[in-house]
Amino acid sequence: MYEDEIKALARAVGADKVGFADLSSYEDEFGISKRLLKKYSRAISIGVVLPREVIETIGPDGPSPAYARCYRRANALLDRAAREIASFCSSKGYRALAVPASRIADWERQLGLISHKAVAVLAGLGWMGKNLLVITPDHGPRVRFATVLTDMPLEVGKPVRSKCGPCRACVEACPAGAIRDVSFDLKPRSRNEVFDYRACLEKLMEFARRPGIGELICGICIKACPYSSAQG
Ligand code: SF4
Ligand code: SF4
Repeated sequence: MYEDEIKALARAVGADKVGFADLSSYEDEFGISKRLLKKYSRAISIGVVLPREVIETIGPDGPSPAYARCYRRANALLDRAAREIASFCSSKGYRALAVPASRIADWERQLGLISHKAVAVLAGLGWMGKNLLVITPDHGPRVRFATVLTDMPLEVGKPVRSKCGPCRACVEACPAGAIRDVSFDLKPRSRNEVFDYRACLEKLMEFARRPGIGELICGICIKACPYSSAQG
């Protein structure tokens, strides 16, 4: 019953996408959150679109300072939207926990408190691509996400099945060879079967040391995805 108010609040703060997920089918392999899943039955997925012009500045050899600045801005906006939505849910008498966009709880496996991407897929905002990014129908993987966990009885979205098909654009573009060309659908057997996260992390660490970057970012597989050029 509060879905429209939450969407309006998110847009007022500057977020572009909002979806609602039922956490009963959340795959625990993608987070370290069993404890949290007992307390929260729903998650609110909030998305901010990264402009196509910024993604275009990413080269075949790595991220640009413009992309690093845009990434930081998107995270700040998402964190603010998550805080405001969590406080709205609390004000209505429900539990709510804002999970910031880029807080990593397990560096080894690059996992946050909960997977923002798994939540966005459950909320129906897109499908999980071969590059383990959420591929939205209108902006491809050019969207960053944050999450609010809650027990508010929200009406939830429907997960979307993968539309990657035979596409290999991200597989071929990845400089780390991290993307294994396996379609990641709603019930994957293991994340490692789809993606070599250690190889990806090593590449991100190399990029983070470059002048003007300072973040664990790459963006090559975002730019390569044909869905990225869908809309501005
Ligand atoms: S972020 Fe970069 S290194 Fe990681 S999978 Fe994508 S293209 Fe490969
Ligand atoms: S580049 Fe192709 S295979 Fe990779 S995520 Fe996008 S659609 Fe899927």
